[in-house]
Amino acid sequence: MDQNELTKHFQTLPVSHNSRYNIDVEGDNLAAKCAKCGFITLFGPCSNCNGRIWVGGTNNDGEIGLFCTNCDLGHTRWNCKECGASNSIRASFGQVQIFSGLSPLAIIVIVVIAIVVIASLLSQC
Ligand SMILES: [Zn+2]
Ligand SMILES: [Zn+2]
Repeated sequence: MDQNELTKHFQTLPVSHNSRYNIDVEGDNLAAKCAKCGFITLFGPCSNCNGRIWVGGTNNDGEIGLFCTNCDLGHTRWNCKECGASNSIRASFGQVQIFSGLSPLAIIVIVVIAIVVIASLLSQC
């Protein structure tokens, strides 16, 4: 997926100290958008323990960030690979909604399955 696609599907999400939802790095397409140049960076697993689940929280200074649920490594800021700007997680966090919306093929498959199920139910009467 290139930057154009990432930018198109990026949605800002709130991170707060009381975010109770867990974020699966690989399943949820966790990303952050640079405040200066708009470059989208996809998050990977924890660099410390390869943990895949992050959760919103605050560090000892009260800064909001994302923390590995496995080893508690926290990220409150990240540096943009493109322009070097220092970004806060709180202000730049989001998600790339790759599967936001069903493709026409998926809709056809679902309709066909529904017809087969209904037909088999009717034939049992
Ligand atoms: Zn940047
Ligand atoms: Zn970790």
